[in-house]
Amino acid sequence: MRSPRRCSRNGCPRQAVATLTYVYNESTAVVGPLAAFAEPHTYDLCEQHARSLTAPRGWDVVRHEGEFEPPPPTTDDLVALAEAVREAARPAPRPPEPDQNRPENPHQTGRRGHLRVIPPNH
Ligand SMILES: [Zn+2]
Repeated sequence: MRSPRRCSRNGCPRQAVATLTYVYNESTAVVGPLAAFAEPHTYDLCEQHARSLTAPRGWDVVRHEGEFEPPPPTTDDLVALAEAVREAARPAPRPPEPDQNRPENPHQTGRRGHLRVIPPNH
């Protein structure tokens, strides 16, 4: 069971939406969408820290322009979603069947007793 990825900054409890990657041979810090896999020299950041990141002296920052999207749901979330959909698709419980052998009021059951319907024109 995976826990949601959190910002890697000390004491920051927010969810990570971006990944900071240090490209050492180009002296570039790249702030991009959250990486699918954690790799060396990468740090997950929340949106606030991703936007406020400043590069070390002599480094460039390449920042993803546009909105940072929250990561896709984890497998656990997908399972929960599937269960919720299944629950919604389940037919509603049927109302209890009326007891046809013991109608509550025999006079309202539509029976006509000894009478029968006479067809017209006869
Ligand atoms: Zn943060």
